[in-house]
Amino acid sequence: MSDTPQENALLPEALRFQSPAPLVDIGANLTHESFGRDLEATLERAQAANVTALIVTGADLEGARHAAALAERHAPLYATAGVHPHHASAWNAEMEAAMLELQRQPRVVAVGECGLDFNRNFSAPRDQERAFEAQLALAVESGLPLFLHERDAGKRMLEMLREWRDHLSDAVVHCFTGERKTLHGYLDLDLHIGQTGWLCDERRGHHLREFVADIPADRLMVETDCPYLLPRNLPAKLKGRRHEPALLPWIVKELAHWRGESEAELARRTTQTARRFFRLDNVPDTGRPGSAPTGGASA
Ligand SMILES: [Zn+2]
Repeated sequence: MSDTPQENALLPEALRFQSPAPLVDIGANLTHESFGRDLEATLERAQAANVTALIVTGADLEGARHAAALAERHAPLYATAGVHPHHASAWNAEMEAAMLELQRQPRVVAVGECGLDFNRNFSAPRDQERAFEAQLALAVESGLPLFLHERDAGKRMLEMLREWRDHLSDAVVHCFTGERKTLHGYLDLDLHIGQTGWLCDERRGHHLREFVADIPADRLMVETDCPYLLPRNLPAKLKGRRHEPALLPWIVKELAHWRGESEAELARRTTQTARRFFRLDNVPDTGRPGSAPTGGASA
């Protein structure tokens, strides 16, 4: 991965966090237009921060195709393919066929982002349920784990997952921000939990701090959800900046504090969990720059 000296010069010193152990960012929206011009530099900063693997979220058909293409092109990237509940109204048979095809690609490691979001209902709840149910079936068909989104819909999500759980391999509720009872409902279903910088937010994340230690270490993974959810308690110099994977160590440090464990241990355990969950060690890595001794060929 190349970077220009100019871009490095623009990197604020305060952004130079470095995790004591390699991290996997399981939710990075690198198809977002804000990364269009400096993706290489962004990945370089992630490497420097010891964020060594990233799962690029695919949240609609165009985004999922883009995410899969990025994962083909850049060594540390993997992709998910799914339709976010906000876009659920667009779900149809052609989209289902296109998703199935994407989910067969070797670097697409999960079905999602999919689920339920009754917070803003950008798609009607019945459309959300229909699209979600179809994607649960896709996960069963492919055997891939699910990358789930849930906001203000824990009760219905639990009902639907209870019906499907026996047929699914694995599932992670990404960016979990709900209540303790919902968390334990997910844990009882043997689900994994993703944590973002939400708990760095003293206004709306404080409840999470009280029970984030309830999540067993082998079911917890970490993510930025960048460019969204910039941690609110960053050093002043970084306020207002775009969120990016290089900031993940800051979130891990905060999470480790509220779980009462060391940053290094949390980094090590979450990475072990993410590599197992997404089966990263089974993904072929040929044909990408940096993965072969010759390098240089673009996919
Ligand atoms: Zn989400």
